Amino acid sequence: DQSVCSPLPVLGRDVTVPLVTGGEVTYAALDYAASAPALQRVWDDVAAYAPYYGSVHRGAGYLSQLSTDLFENSRVTVAEFLDCRPEDQVVFTRSTTDSLNLLAAALPADCQVFVFETEHHASLLPWKDARVTYLNAPRTPAQAVETLERALADRDPHGPALVCVTGASNVTGELWPVRELAAAAHAHGARIVLDAAQLAPHHPLSVRELDVDWVAFSGHKLYAPFGSGVLAGRADWLQDAEPYLAGGGASKKVARRADGGVDVEWHTTAARHEAGSPNVIGVYSIASACKALTEAGFDALVERERHLIATVREGLAEVPEVKVLSLFGDDAPRVGVISFVVEGWNSSHFAAALSAEYGIGVRDGLFCAHPLVRTLLGSDPQQIGECGAPEAEPGEKSLNAIRVSFGAGTPDEHVERFVRAVK
Ligand code: PMP
Repeated sequence: DQSVCSPLPVLGRDVTVPLVTGGEVTYAALDYAASAPALQRVWDDVAAYAPYYGSVHRGAGYLSQLSTDLFENSRVTVAEFLDCRPEDQVVFTRSTTDSLNLLAAALPADCQVFVFETEHHASLLPWKDARVTYLNAPRTPAQAVETLERALADRDPHGPALVCVTGASNVTGELWPVRELAAAAHAHGARIVLDAAQLAPHHPLSVRELDVDWVAFSGHKLYAPFGSGVLAGRADWLQDAEPYLAGGGASKKVARRADGGVDVEWHTTAARHEAGSPNVIGVYSIASACKALTEAGFDALVERERHLIATVREGLAEVPEVKVLSLFGDDAPRVGVISFVVEGWNSSHFAAALSAEYGIGVRDGLFCAHPLVRTLLGSDPQQIGECGAPEAEPGEKSLNAIRVSFGAGTPDEHVERFVRAVK
């Protein structure tokens, strides 16, 4: 009974899948880092709202007004969940990738960007129009801060600069020293955006305490799989930028000019970057998940996850062929995301066997963090692989890894079955 072991039940508890060996088994969803199952509470809230769904912002009808209220109140809920400053803006996007691309499109002219090579591609790649400094993989959190400080000390102190950093790695689950990196950034006149795609679902997060300028996360990793994301933080760069998408909703006034052209006055609120009809259900489900996580309390969630992490790590440690991937070492604080390779095994075959023979859903590949996985596997970090690339033959060095990840609603039985299957 998951209500005993988890303060937050999720959907899919009774889903059964066929096994190649015959029969069927309940599905063990252990790929939360890619997309977490929906919280039962999110599903219930969405179902309760669905009959009242209406167009937001300009509808005169009662249901449109109700939907607009829910949509706009969702911003307040998200701002509270993130412990934002009163002047911060919450912009709704499609995902973390979308949020970081929006910020990249809003950088002031001549902005320098500093990013560790260990980042997820969503944090590594959107800065293509800026001057980017890629920082080498640190082997301790303190080295991360030193590396950033050294890089910032060399920069032009007068121009704008942005640091982009993950809160928790989607490969190792390790926590990054965000507060210290933010202090280093600010000491050198730079700003910082936190990629909280993996942090927000597992760990309390305070924009104010961490003193980050922006934070980005995705609903589908925060137990709200309806296609929405968030970029929250300082309004100034966002208000000064061209709208991310041009269209209705972002424009306040539009008029033909005498010379035949068109004059546009754009909103300076979050709406500036939310053109088009918004994903009301997606936004509402994020707010619902934020409320559910807050009410359950992160203390209970973190404690529960610590137990699951210990079960997996202790189980894997008993298998001599298993090597767990880690940048900061065994004692580093981490969330429930663990990647590993198994000597003599092809990672893709291994993950496929976990599914086919045990009904366990994990992930194999390079997890959209190619340079990091290459570094952790001891292969050439400059060699760029493909997600889902063909794996080394058994006996050869692994070219990709297996990732198991879990969180709210994961029963003991799922991680125990996983450990048994690996053994
Ligand atoms: N950052 C991190 C750390 C992630 O784990 C992910 C998703 N794997 C992303 C960014 C991108 O998230 P999305 O695919 O929802 O845009």
